[in-house]
Amino acid sequence: MKVKVNEENCIACGYCVGVCDKVFEFIDSENGTVSHVKVDTVDDADKEAVVEAIESCPTSAIEEVEE
Ligand code: SF4
Repeated sequence: MKVKVNEENCIACGYCVGVCDKVFEFIDSENGTVSHVKVDTVDDADKEAVVEAIESCPTSAIEEVEE
């Protein structure tokens, strides 16, 4: 499983970082502080948390991408 954050939509609410800090971290970008995916591929052990983050992100900024 691979995911990405669309920075333009991220409002830095912190939910995804809180639910899975092994995958998501805050970075300072040209769009301000945003969440960033720091792994290439999500470990199987983290999939459940990442799916929860996708489903709970208030702006639908996280999406699964083709492997
Ligand atoms: S849950 Fe969505 S809006 Fe909140 S920090 Fe993560 S990507 Fe950004």
